[in-house]
Amino acid sequence: MSHMNTQRPRPSSGNPKRTMTAQLRALANTTAVMAAIFMVLLVAFVWMVTAINKSSSKDDTDSKETSATSSSAVANLSSDAGTTTPEPTDTTPPETSAAAHASYPEGTKLIALTFDDGPCDYTPQVLEALERNGVVATFFVIGQNVSGTDAAVLQKMLDLGCEIGNHTWSHQILTQVDEEGAYEQLSKCDAAIEEKVGQKATVIRPPTGAGLKQEGLFRYSVDNREYVVNWNDSSCPQDWQAPALGDADYTAQYVIDNAIDGDMVLLHDSHKSTVDSLDKMIAGLKEKGYVFVTVTQLLEARVGNLTMDEAAAKGWDTSKLVQAYDGGPIYGIRYAFSSEKMIFEKKSSS
Ligand SMILES: [Zn+2]
Repeated sequence: MSHMNTQRPRPSSGNPKRTMTAQLRALANTTAVMAAIFMVLLVAFVWMVTAINKSSSKDDTDSKETSATSSSAVANLSSDAGTTTPEPTDTTPPETSAAAHASYPEGTKLIALTFDDGPCDYTPQVLEALERNGVVATFFVIGQNVSGTDAAVLQKMLDLGCEIGNHTWSHQILTQVDEEGAYEQLSKCDAAIEEKVGQKATVIRPPTGAGLKQEGLFRYSVDNREYVVNWNDSSCPQDWQAPALGDADYTAQYVIDNAIDGDMVLLHDSHKSTVDSLDKMIAGLKEKGYVFVTVTQLLEARVGNLTMDEAAAKGWDTSKLVQAYDGGPIYGIRYAFSSEKMIFEKKSSS
């Protein structure tokens, strides 16, 4: 403020024109100083807001979300789910009846083999192996690859009773795009699949498993009622690297030895050694009593009819769960208990 005082014009006498000019100059000086102060305050304010945002986004990346963030997200989606009753349309996958969930006798061990990143050159061989052994699997395909693949390859997946999953358009890691970018990646992949076989994917796996908290993924899965899943680390042979890569026997034996009931096994149809491991792997798992199911069949057999209360009673993290309607089945996402699985429930209120 002392700076302003030094600039204050001394009272002048005489020429009224000069006085007026001096007053105008003084006013201009005062305005400039005020503007400078305003700018400094503005910069300080922006800096403060940025600092606050930085610290809150740092909180978001922590493993535990703040309950405020979670509950507001859930509240929004809950009201969406509550006001818009999911109506089956031509593009909506058919609802599985409740009876289908009880189709496996008590004690049946279930396993879901999954193949990511195709379709590719080896995919027809994978399909032949599945057909030869009379089992099903789930293919998480990349949209770009789908576009360049003969429709017959994708159609054969469905004909064999396999499931097609969405693995984004270009294997985009969903933490590296914004909400709209994530939504578009999933949407474009589904469009490519639909163009080949007349229907969209029924499940989603985000590339590398990252981005489970991506709102674009969450919104897409809710809008299209596609489950979102990762896989079980404990039974994953990591077929993209040594010692599994190039060693079919190791790959097969790893899965046979480490699989447990309810596992989703991550494999890639892009590796020859994985393709070559399938006969031994499937035979070994059958010997241990496993029944092969698709991802959706696995989810619906195990979690399909749970309510929020039942999920909570099982010890699940219910902070990201959405109910289709009050007291009804779960219609949302859960971060899994012991594995990295995340599950979207697509039960309707009917
Ligand atoms: Zn992938």
